[in-house]
Amino acid sequence: MAYLNYRGIVLKEVNTGEADKIITVLTAEEGKISIAAKNARRAKNSLSSGTQLLCYSSYMLFKGKELYNMSSCEVIEPNYEIRNDIVKLTYCSHILELAADNVQEGEPSEEILQLLLNTLYVIAKTSRSLDLITRVFELRLMALLGYEPHVISCVSCNKTEDKKMFFDLDSSGLVCSECVNKNGRVVSLLPGTVKALKYIMCINPQKLYSFSLSEESIKELYIISKSYIKEHLGKEYNKLDYLKYLNLK
Ligand SMILES: [Zn+2]
Repeated sequence: MAYLNYRGIVLKEVNTGEADKIITVLTAEEGKISIAAKNARRAKNSLSSGTQLLCYSSYMLFKGKELYNMSSCEVIEPNYEIRNDIVKLTYCSHILELAADNVQEGEPSEEILQLLLNTLYVIAKTSRSLDLITRVFELRLMALLGYEPHVISCVSCNKTEDKKMFFDLDSSGLVCSECVNKNGRVVSLLPGTVKALKYIMCINPQKLYSFSLSEESIKELYIISKSYIKEHLGKEYNKLDYLKYLNLK
């Protein structure tokens, strides 16, 4: 039997049978894959730890008729800090849902895997603003999925700076104060938000989370990102509303 060795993050888990699981894993080589893990729900089973949500592991697999089957796994990063914190876990559920819904099966996804690993690391190991981290992830993910907004200059006249810039949803990018259509779907932006958008789209992945931003600008990023995702992915992602019910936000 030919074994394959993949590293990946568990995006989703579904219980099957008496003690089995099917997990959805994001890999660099094949994007999203589904893996059957026999007996993974038994506490002492060697597959139990590496098949939990958010776990980054190395998997030995063999191909079955429809799914991969797991032969063994070794945990690289369990991300315990996230699973033990309801607020961090809720933000990460939202992030995992975005990845699970929009990464294709069989499509190499190395950059998206790197983005997700990087994002989970910052959430797990630091106390940085979860709202800022989530907006950065969302916008960078949109770019990697092929929906990069135009944030280098005004989409109409190409001016790179103006006293006031806006984000225009209809043209998926920045517009200056002369080109803006105030009756259109536009978000007025603070200078800090414009700078942040450029940074998020252009900076190399290692430095993606090395900046801070005012609360007002984080709110503006939220308005842009939420509408932009709905516009291009055709779905509203509402898992973060859960925090309001718990009075945690
Ligand atoms: Zn312009």
